[in-house]
Amino acid sequence: MAETTYDLIVIGAGPGGYVAAIRGAQLGMKVCIVERENLGGICLNWGCIPTKALLRSSEVFHLMHRAKEFGLKADGIGYDLDAVVKRSRKVAGQLSGGIGHLMKKNKIAVVMGEATIPAKGKVSVKTDKGTESLSAKNIVLATGARARELPGLEADGKLVWTYRHALQPPHMPKKLLVIGSGAIGIEFASFYNTLGADTTVVEVMDRVLPVEDAEISAFAKKAFEKQGMKIMQKAMVKKLNRKGDKVTAHIEVGGKIETQEFDTVISAVGIVGNIEDLGLEELGVKIDRTHVVTDEYCRTGVDGLYAIGDIAGAPWLAHKASHEGVMVAELMAGENPHPVKPESIAGCTYCHPQVASVGYTEAKAKELGYDIKVGRFPFIGNGKAIALGEESGLIKTIFDAKTGELLGAHMIGAEVTELIQGYVVGRQLETTEEDLMNTVFPHPTLSEMMHESVLDAYGKVIHM
Ligand SMILES: Cc1cc2nc3c(=O)[nH]c(=O)nc-3n(C[C@H](O)[C@H](O)[C@H](O)COP(=O)(O)OP(=O)(O)OC[C@H]3O[C@@H](n4cnc5c(N)ncnc54)[C@H](O)[C@@H]3O)c2cc1C
Repeated sequence: MAETTYDLIVIGAGPGGYVAAIRGAQLGMKVCIVERENLGGICLNWGCIPTKALLRSSEVFHLMHRAKEFGLKADGIGYDLDAVVKRSRKVAGQLSGGIGHLMKKNKIAVVMGEATIPAKGKVSVKTDKGTESLSAKNIVLATGARARELPGLEADGKLVWTYRHALQPPHMPKKLLVIGSGAIGIEFASFYNTLGADTTVVEVMDRVLPVEDAEISAFAKKAFEKQGMKIMQKAMVKKLNRKGDKVTAHIEVGGKIETQEFDTVISAVGIVGNIEDLGLEELGVKIDRTHVVTDEYCRTGVDGLYAIGDIAGAPWLAHKASHEGVMVAELMAGENPHPVKPESIAGCTYCHPQVASVGYTEAKAKELGYDIKVGRFPFIGNGKAIALGEESGLIKTIFDAKTGELLGAHMIGAEVTELIQGYVVGRQLETTEEDLMNTVFPHPTLSEMMHESVLDAYGKVIHM
């Protein structure tokens, strides 16, 4: 088959790849995108979106149980797990289909198949119909990542699940063990616990959601325990013995091994980059553990080859992948884009209560030598939160005492995943405490707590 030449070939159609392809096409490039599974990648099909659809069902279920508090009646509350999952899959399918339309609209060629890079500027794709040969001046690697599997804790899809199984569960867990309390583990723990699974979370670090500020982790732990979740910190699952329809977990805690029986285990112990079988080593691409090493502009060091998104390392977030996609396309077009600043990328966890943060934690700011001012505001002091029946939560802000720079913001409570962007914009504009204090926040909103937290850092808080 003859070789087809493009200006840009993107490998992987996740939020990194498809966004790079669209921006490239907008800038006048002839673009091809190669995908081996689903347009939209993990994010739309097996990550961000279907998990949020599941969590929405569990949130509504939770609220139905609280109907009486709101003067409402709801009898015979129940759920149909198949229907919950069906809705989640439908939402994922709808969005993946939408990416197909965007590719057409932007005249981007889509080749479905497994790509390799046999030489600089060349891509070979194994499709259903045979092998297609493509070439381009620029290639963007956006092949993403998959669940990390630890020896002895490997998923089997029946008793031990990765996120893929947990999104399409073969059964409703009765007694569930979640290994790992990062965002993925905690979101599934929250979903299944709300639907009634007796849920235990085991975390090797000394707190849940270990990348968050310690105060937020402690708040989250209390909230989860109040909902009936069991949290084991500084604990490690050493072994899983599978027998019949039960798994016995050997958990090391406090120097001793405890055994506990579960019917389902979700392993959420991180991810590994999809770096294999692409021909990267032969090209001379540098790999660090399971990620491609790049500079701040996502350049791999091999002329015309960029790596973006999960394959290029932390933070493993869809919005980081997309932003890098735009950046590399603009760079190729000769524009002058800014590199992505990891410390200004917000992280959100959609458990109940939600958690969101941007910038440095209090501990990190101190470690970096900043003299800091810290503000806090609890949800119980906010009218909208009380009207919503969401009085539990906290907004914490951290400032450089010398310059007034907003170093970090950390939130837990209702809708904080929507609120955090206010602080992200603030950090992007290099705002100071003065700008934030002079900003008028609408009433009644949860966002007023963002103002109050800043005021608190400077001894000017009003409603506390
Ligand atoms: C359960 C879960 C929940 C998540 N929730 C969130 C969230 O709420 N917010 C958030 O920001 N992030 C979330 N993430 C992370 C987010 O999904 C990833 O950061 C994001 O998908 C990374 O985008 P990407 O474009 O780098 O790669 P991916 O989305 O992984 O896409 C890579 C694509 O490349 C394809 N591919 C791989 N190798 C080849 C090859 N050789 N040839 C052709 N195609 C190939 C794959 O099939 C895949 O479609 C979640 C992840 C999981 C697992």
